Amino acid sequence: MMIQNADIVIVGGGIWGLSAAYHLAQAGQKRVSVLERNPALAQETTPRAAGLVGQIRSNPTMMRAIQYALNLFSQFARQTGHDPGVHQTGSLMVALTPERLAAYEQQVEHARQNQVEASFVSHEEMARLVPALNTSQVVGGYFVPDDGYVDPKQCAQAYGEAATDLGVHIALGTRVTGIRISQGRVVGVETGDGLVEAGQVLIAAGPWSGMLAEKAGFAPAMQPIRHQRVCTVPLPGIPDHHPVVRVTDVSCYVRPEKGGYLYGFFEPHPTSIDLETLPADFTTGDLEPPTAVMAEAQKRLSPIFPILKELEIAEYHQGITTFAPDGSYLIGPVPGVADLFLATGCAALGIAGSAAIGHWLAQWMLEGHPGEDLTLFGLERFGDRASDRAWMRRASEDFYGHYYSIRPEAS
Ligand SMILES: Cc1cc2nc3c(=O)[nH]c(=O)nc-3n(C[C@H](O)[C@H](O)[C@H](O)COP(=O)(O)OP(=O)(O)OC[C@H]3O[C@@H](n4cnc5c(N)ncnc54)[C@H](O)[C@@H]3O)c2cc1C
Repeated sequence: MMIQNADIVIVGGGIWGLSAAYHLAQAGQKRVSVLERNPALAQETTPRAAGLVGQIRSNPTMMRAIQYALNLFSQFARQTGHDPGVHQTGSLMVALTPERLAAYEQQVEHARQNQVEASFVSHEEMARLVPALNTSQVVGGYFVPDDGYVDPKQCAQAYGEAATDLGVHIALGTRVTGIRISQGRVVGVETGDGLVEAGQVLIAAGPWSGMLAEKAGFAPAMQPIRHQRVCTVPLPGIPDHHPVVRVTDVSCYVRPEKGGYLYGFFEPHPTSIDLETLPADFTTGDLEPPTAVMAEAQKRLSPIFPILKELEIAEYHQGITTFAPDGSYLIGPVPGVADLFLATGCAALGIAGSAAIGHWLAQWMLEGHPGEDLTLFGLERFGDRASDRAWMRRASEDFYGHYYSIRPEAS
């Protein structure tokens, strides 16, 4: 049923919009409406994700954000009655070179300084945790026991159901076509069914967020970039409590899924998606399976996970992530338009970050401040350079292509 007004309208029923809705309602704001163009929630980027929730990040804000997510996810079913599908199996970070091992030493140190438990493990322990790992190829590795993964779609739906229980209204099949602004202030959104008046609006439309923000006169510095992972046919004997394995030297990650293995790949030369050149009814499901890219992933992983050579790929999952040139989120109030907020630049970390993002945005919209210094996610942090779209695209693709590179700050 279409509504005509709400205190807060959220554009987008993916995991970010739904987490924001849940956190707003939890904080006492009940007149929230989520407008989603598809006939169901979480059908675009969110369900394609691998759902990894890893605490090893380059800055303390993100480390705390992921800790917040792990806490929330582990209590969510008990507190709300809706299960986000969390598996706290730990992460194993595998090094194939001495340079990587040296970078890992810094990461473990950094983790401990930020109250994240992480320790180096022996080859025997790695083989126990991940029996399919060919440890003869491995120089060393460390284990983060509290890390894990969630089922991304289930998690988004859990936020949505918990938000609905708290009074949030969700309108499916409702495409937002414009942002209505009057005297420098947002007053609502335009939809195929007419105007929905709102005191505040949050654009959380995944890769389409940039196009919507441009309708309000602001072009965020983010590039939609394809990311991909696959799921193999099942294989008997994969342990239930199998950790996520990040083989950063080959830019891949692996975890169990549906009785087989899921693996994903940050290819060095990524594919940008120019949504503005595609038809308005384009959806993520229209992306072709990137078979050559995933064949390369399998080739890179096979020396370390020989079993993957034997296992047919049962499912391809490709989606559109959004990257800022520095790989950090873009969230906050839209410059020049009062009461309009934007959340984009998920950097393939939007499932893990969803909880904190919802929390920060709820505080920002209700209290006028996110509760901590989020300058690093500021929408205007690139200054004039953001208007150089060629630079922005190059730098964002470069960040994606070097996602797991050894960086000075040991991310
Ligand atoms: C292959 C892959 C693996 C990934 N792995 C991980 C991972 O391991 N860990 C992790 O943290 N993250 C991961 N991610 C990233 C994660 O999927 C995203 O960060 C997250 O899903 C972003 O959620 P969102 O709500 O911003 O976007 P979306 O899920 O795309 O939701 C946006 C919603 O807005 C709606 N919408 C768009 N335009 C309009 C409009 N005009 N009107 C109304 N509604 C509109 C869309 O229909 C959609 O439902 C991965 C992504 C991919 C593709």
